[in-house]
Amino acid sequence: MSPNALLQDPPVVSDAHFSPEQFDRAVMTTYGRFPIALERGEGCRVWDTDGKAYLDCVAGIATCTLGHAHPALVKALSHQIQKLHHVSNLYYIPEQGALAQWIVDHSCGDRVFFCNSGAEANEAAIKLARKYAHDVQEIKRPVILTANASFHGRTLATITATGQTKYQKGFEPLVPGFEYVPYNDLQALENAIADIDEGDRRVGAVLLEPLQGEGGVRPGDLAYFQGVRKVCDENGLLLILDEVQVGMGRTGKVWGYENLGIEPDVFTSAKGLGGGIPIGAMVCKSSCDVLQPGNHASTFGGNPFACAAGLAVAQVLESEGLLANAQERGEQLRASLSAIAVQYPQHIAEVRGWGLINGVVLNDETELTSINIVKAAMDVGLLLVPAGPKVVRFVPPLVITAAEIEEAVQKFGEAIAAVG
Ligand SMILES: *Cc1c(COP(=O)(O)O)cnc(C)c1O
Repeated sequence: MSPNALLQDPPVVSDAHFSPEQFDRAVMTTYGRFPIALERGEGCRVWDTDGKAYLDCVAGIATCTLGHAHPALVKALSHQIQKLHHVSNLYYIPEQGALAQWIVDHSCGDRVFFCNSGAEANEAAIKLARKYAHDVQEIKRPVILTANASFHGRTLATITATGQTKYQKGFEPLVPGFEYVPYNDLQALENAIADIDEGDRRVGAVLLEPLQGEGGVRPGDLAYFQGVRKVCDENGLLLILDEVQVGMGRTGKVWGYENLGIEPDVFTSAKGLGGGIPIGAMVCKSSCDVLQPGNHASTFGGNPFACAAGLAVAQVLESEGLLANAQERGEQLRASLSAIAVQYPQHIAEVRGWGLINGVVLNDETELTSINIVKAAMDVGLLLVPAGPKVVRFVPPLVITAAEIEEAVQKFGEAIAAVG
């Protein structure tokens, strides 16, 4: 059966019309949701249940790398689900091996562990760092340094790694073994490494985002990251980079660290890796792979379906030249948004980002918040996502065209005009 035939005879759930009130009675209200429901997409366009069209510059939060209903993804997943979708890591999984090989061939890493999300990938990296501390660094109570305003996920260990109290409040006691330093401040990192030394309690690893996504689309500073690499080498520390939001082509390079001229010892990936099918990965150099059979596992991790998605994304990234597109469309977007920023100096302080992860930074003085602008944009048919209260984030699919970027900026201008 072709995918189109399936669409004509959809499962019953697609016909259900939930009101937000009904929805919120049955589903835990852990999210602040916008009052629309999306039911269909194609490329960078999505439609809600009332038939209204939106240009999608959210892409499931930097996740739908190939946009919606990309033929290569539809074909790969239709094929895989008819063949074999899940077995178990009790057995060898060819698709998992192939995706790991692609990642290894296109990164500084040597070995991959697969899981299902960004938080899980970071959990795996944290476990690896702790085992490395015990086995190799001989630290009994290892500390991982992370940055203020970082975001690493919502599990207990990753909210602790996240340097923002708003994600931690109410969930104490937090996981021991984390300390925070200001981002892009090398002296502060050096001081922390020197200060945290009680013999059996020392720094074993540094965990950073190459560009802070949720924390406000704040790019890492080149000199800072080169300094961090040097300090880690001199002190025998692991440098772990969280590539969950910026990896897999988002910045115009396959990995965010390529913008910084350094290589991590360990990095994590998730969001864009499966193009919207849940998959996460922790990648490390063989020199720090201390995990043995039985040390870590995931039931779903790296199953044939998720890995088929990852392989399709990888193939299209190359065959459609999406790295170059991310670079060029990103430059176009920043240039056009900067022109709007000049028109509204009372509201917009700065436009910043790499490739197709960009933020419009609002002035401290303006009363406008990122939510105000995101709502106004939604009214005119443009989907955007806040990155904190004062930054509006653009993370469209990497297949976005020049004409669609122009349309996005025009709609953004209409939104600002409406609220400003
Ligand atoms: C989204 C994100 C995570 C968490 O990923 P989940 O898949 O939601 O667990 C971790 N780190 C960064 C940098 C992210 O952007």
